[in-house]
Amino acid sequence: RVKAAGGGDALFFSHGMNRLARDRLLLGAALRRAVAAGDLRLEYQPQVRPGCGGLYGVEALARWCDPEFGEVPPDRFIGLAEEIGEIEAIGRWALREACRAMARWRAAGLGVPVVAINLSPFNFRSRDLPDCIAALLDEHDLPGRCLTVEITEGLMMEATPQTLDIMRRIRALGVGLSVDDFGTGFSSLSSLASLPVTEVKMDRSFIARCEREKRAQTLVTAMIGVGRSLDLTVVAEGVESEDQRRLLHELECPVVQGYLFSRPLPLDAFERWLAARGGAAAPAVAGGAAVG
Ligand code: C2E
Ligand code: MG
Ligand code: MG
Ligand code: MG
Repeated sequence: RVKAAGGGDALFFSHGMNRLARDRLLLGAALRRAVAAGDLRLEYQPQVRPGCGGLYGVEALARWCDPEFGEVPPDRFIGLAEEIGEIEAIGRWALREACRAMARWRAAGLGVPVVAINLSPFNFRSRDLPDCIAALLDEHDLPGRCLTVEITEGLMMEATPQTLDIMRRIRALGVGLSVDDFGTGFSSLSSLASLPVTEVKMDRSFIARCEREKRAQTLVTAMIGVGRSLDLTVVAEGVESEDQRRLLHELECPVVQGYLFSRPLPLDAFERWLAARGGAAAPAVAGGAAVG
């Protein structure tokens, strides 16, 4: 791996260094600066009940707009942050920022039940992650149930005694544990049953294929069934159409999330979205209340 000389502002490039590696080095340096300067932002995307449209919770997603590189999507900068050792700082920042937002919504009586944040498997290498979460909950006067931590299937697979211990200590705080992008990795149903998780999020690739492909629909039905029998909340990601919402409601999927209801929004826009629908209990889609 390529390293910046001295890690400072002056970067020297060898003749042999290709453009890709150089761009990555520059992007990494910019990311480091953005994290240090607190330039990352969180956006919030609602999660709703497919029948009545009631608000189940909200997922917080990191955003980075660099003056030089423009808007860099998390699919690019999270992996980079893992490589250059910035993911720990980003995880803690996201936790703090989400707790602050939740405290604000509670103070304003906005009725947002839970905020979910994404953590990388790297964040589970810090033994003090549960203590850090406990301190943040305490500082913002929040019960643990106001927070959910989304983890990837990869972490479930490589659940070492240490990560398992961290998961248990997080759960002991009352904080939810959700398996993100469920169905895309190689996690087995047995690991799902043996880990202290509270929620699974079906990957949006299944939802996208669900209407046209019988087999995708069979998988979605099975995942909803497994979730129900293990007492896990099942969330469908990437719901973009009314037909998808109706189908998921028919299949008794408890929670849906996607562009149909709202794109991820900056804090103030999310609060306007909440206000516009007349509070957390109001239906998110026209006619939603009639279906259930
Ligand atoms: P994810 O956690 O699975 O988040 C869902 C992604 O799907 C988000 O992309 C969201 O904007 C997008 N999405 C939501 N509804 C729809 C829809 O209806 N259609 C489509 N096509 N997409 C939809 P985003 O924000 O670009 O994030 C990508 C991934 O980056 C996330 O996937 C998550 O794995 C990661 N990520 C984002 N923020 C953080 C963070 O703070 N920490 C860590 N470790 N990872 C993060
Ligand atoms: Mg997620
Ligand atoms: Mg996901
Ligand atoms: Mg994803």
